[in-house]
Amino acid sequence: MRTIPVEIRGLTVRFGHTLALQGLDMSIPEGEFRVILGPSGSGKTTILRSIAGLIEPEAGSIWIGGRDVTLLYPSERNVAMVFQNYALYPHMTAFNNIALNLRMRHLPRDEIDRKVTGVAELLHISPLLDRTPRELSGGEAQRVGLARAMVRDPAVYLMDEPLSNLDAKLRGEMKDELRRFHRIVQKTIIYVTHDQNEAMALGDHIVVMDRGRKQQEGTPKEVYDRPGTVFVAKFIGSPPMNMIPARTEALDRPRYRLSPEGSPAGLVLTSNGDPLPPEVQLGIRPSSIRLDPTGPWKGPVEYTELLGPQIEVHFRVGTTRVVAILPRTSAAEGLLEAEARKEVVSFAVEPASIHVFEGRTGEALGNPILSLQSP
Ligand code: ATP
Repeated sequence: MRTIPVEIRGLTVRFGHTLALQGLDMSIPEGEFRVILGPSGSGKTTILRSIAGLIEPEAGSIWIGGRDVTLLYPSERNVAMVFQNYALYPHMTAFNNIALNLRMRHLPRDEIDRKVTGVAELLHISPLLDRTPRELSGGEAQRVGLARAMVRDPAVYLMDEPLSNLDAKLRGEMKDELRRFHRIVQKTIIYVTHDQNEAMALGDHIVVMDRGRKQQEGTPKEVYDRPGTVFVAKFIGSPPMNMIPARTEALDRPRYRLSPEGSPAGLVLTSNGDPLPPEVQLGIRPSSIRLDPTGPWKGPVEYTELLGPQIEVHFRVGTTRVVAILPRTSAAEGLLEAEARKEVVSFAVEPASIHVFEGRTGEALGNPILSLQSP
């Protein structure tokens, strides 16, 4: 059995009138790359700062390696925090920036040299150690910041959007570096981001936050394939999952008449799940849509874009805009022509790939749809 080095129990943090975290529980097994994902203001940084000991919670406790650290000073918690802006000292060389924490701990000089050169080699920054931060690119400064956290050899790394200041190419490279770093050190990493691509690429396990509460947690595959709420469904995946509102009416169960937007004749749905509520939202990933002249949905094309191997098409379905990512067939390429805009096109969706959510609460319903037919 694995130990649980980081555990958060009932954590509540308040800033004045703002409830930044509301009774948060989270267990992070040793050695896991845990990503905390959520929009701005959802409480991500507050979680990290609480673990680091920089914030005093109103209620709840934090345990690291089976020890209650809630009342300990930051320096007593054995965690290292990597910030967005790396916070390097401008007048010190990269070497001295990396060595700083080790010097403060009065480690012998040859041990400091050994640790700094070792970590520099790992992060490919050995030739940069004599430079000051001014003489480093954003990506290089990022690696120096990471190296400074790494030499401390903490129990847990806390990373707050460490790639957010980098351009797309460097971000890609640093994602690879971070994965490699995690494989080598095999330490717990708790990593905060608002970027779902980063979360999917890096996380062993993702926690999705919204307004101080945990919405869902699971592997990247679980949260993508089985989003528990409309919020998670729309937050993970790009472009986001389409949501088409529909009224339902029970026929002879398990069949329902469905009146979704953009399908004037309605549909008959056969489901093998619980009874459907009177109003649902049908969640459809853009990549699950295909052009089909006999398909049940119809709508005018509003916008198209060539993405290289695929084509993005926006349809208007009732009052809802639906985005499709289509393979480059000749029919799809036809929609790129200017005169094809406003043309009414029919499309279909594989019933098994439709997610069904409660119309009002947005909770996912465990309703695999068996078939969907025009009446
Ligand atoms: P971002 O992605 O923008 O960094 P976040 O998810 O990390 O957002 P937090 O920084 O944890 O969110 O903030 C959560 C809530 O607490 C927000 O409403 C924020 O305005 C508030 N908050 C955070 N720190 C403080 C503070 N020191 N004083 C007052 N309010 C704060």
